[in-house]
Amino acid sequence: MGSFNVAKFGGTSVANFEAMSRCAAIIESNPNTKLVVSSACSGVTNLLVELANGVQDQTHRSEILTKLAEIHNAVLDQLEDSTQAAAEVYTILDTVTSLAEAASIQASRKLTDHLVACGELMSTHLLTQLMRERGIAATRFDIRNVLRTDSNFGKAEPELDSIRQLAEEKLIPLCQESVVITQGFIGSDAEGNTTTLGRGGSDYSAALIAEAVEASGLEIWTDVPGIYTTDPRIAPKASPIPEISFSEASEMANFGAKILHPSTLVPALRHDIPVFVGSSKEPEKGGTWIRHQVESSPLFRALALRCNQTMVTLRSAKMFHAYGFLARVFEILAKHKVSVDLITTSEISVSLTLDQTDTSGGAPQLPEAARIELEELCSVDVEHNLCLVALIGNNMSESKGYAKQVFGTLEDFNLRMICYGASPHNLCFLVHESVSKQAIQKLHTELFEG
Ligand code: ADP
Ligand code: ASP
Ligand code: MG
Repeated sequence: MGSFNVAKFGGTSVANFEAMSRCAAIIESNPNTKLVVSSACSGVTNLLVELANGVQDQTHRSEILTKLAEIHNAVLDQLEDSTQAAAEVYTILDTVTSLAEAASIQASRKLTDHLVACGELMSTHLLTQLMRERGIAATRFDIRNVLRTDSNFGKAEPELDSIRQLAEEKLIPLCQESVVITQGFIGSDAEGNTTTLGRGGSDYSAALIAEAVEASGLEIWTDVPGIYTTDPRIAPKASPIPEISFSEASEMANFGAKILHPSTLVPALRHDIPVFVGSSKEPEKGGTWIRHQVESSPLFRALALRCNQTMVTLRSAKMFHAYGFLARVFEILAKHKVSVDLITTSEISVSLTLDQTDTSGGAPQLPEAARIELEELCSVDVEHNLCLVALIGNNMSESKGYAKQVFGTLEDFNLRMICYGASPHNLCFLVHESVSKQAIQKLHTELFEG
């Protein structure tokens, strides 16, 4: 098995020639890095998603295709010998053109995955050639030969046993000979159809691959020098966290901290692979280590924000002192495959938020058929435009005295739902989207900037 390092570079890290050159320097600086997982160049996946949704207007479709060509041509122009990479990229751009046309006639999830996967397929051709021109033996590998998934297009589930076996057979031997450059985000099902792991899925790909090759470490290179106390774009005084536990980082990812795809840490945790998060722009600044054992476990670690929440409130006077109501509610939700995220109850009502089940990024919807059945039982109220604010920390359910500080800071906010106690690592609540950033900023000032 490979006791080497896996390094993943996100979209901004491979945005252009200069950014890719910085990635190459990071790879060169660690001879133990044998496997590189790359995202699509910054902005490319968004353009491909737009095409996949079906652009009817031919002029607009051409504009998007031109933008895609420009992004990749800008890198090709700076390569010394772009002949082979250009031929590969242009072939993929031709595929994009015909798939975009097909999507404008009839979009489908299968077609979408085929189309959006083209971003990573192109960026890896460019990065491989750039590495070779710096004198590094680099091989591009199509990860669809290893990253086997089910056929749930848009949010495919990895098939771990197959991935492991295929990695052992096809990937590990290649890593002994050269640095392997491969794609994040994409995979293929048993029939050979291209699938994707969902938006932001390259982090997850890298972790799955690191697990399959039994990597000694996983590096996630992005545009910030580590995991911060909150998104630095929301609170400019947020500070980087040098070391954080798997449980704390998983909570952050689950509660929407975009820095890591929510599933990223699951494979790393299963195989106890230490994860490093750093900035490819400023690698000298260091970053965050995610480990099992950490030196400090503060009461407050970080704040995360997840928007596009849908809250469903079910009310029934019959619920008062009755049994079986919740069982009936969940039976209906399960029947309609509605996955519930958070829940709070009172004597006559229950409020819950819906899990994000697709990758559109929009608010999850309560299916009409589920609503009709629920309405036979109780009143149903659905609210959108809500965001979930999560305070993440340690031993929160066993500590006292801090609720006053937290809720005192938020006294001017209308808190729609509060969840606390089930996990020792978080306290979270819903607020209206219009004040969500303000809530994060106020809490950050009060709890983290003292
Ligand atoms: P990549 O393309 O490298 O995967 P992303 O844009 O997906 O990068 O994730 C990096 C971004 O995550 C940062 O630019 C930052 O705005 C955001 N982010 C959200 N929460 C945090 C946090 N707690 N710490 C650092 N960055 C965060
Ligand atoms: N390129 C994909 C996206 O933008 C995957 C990733 O970058 O993680 O969602
Ligand atoms: Mg990302």
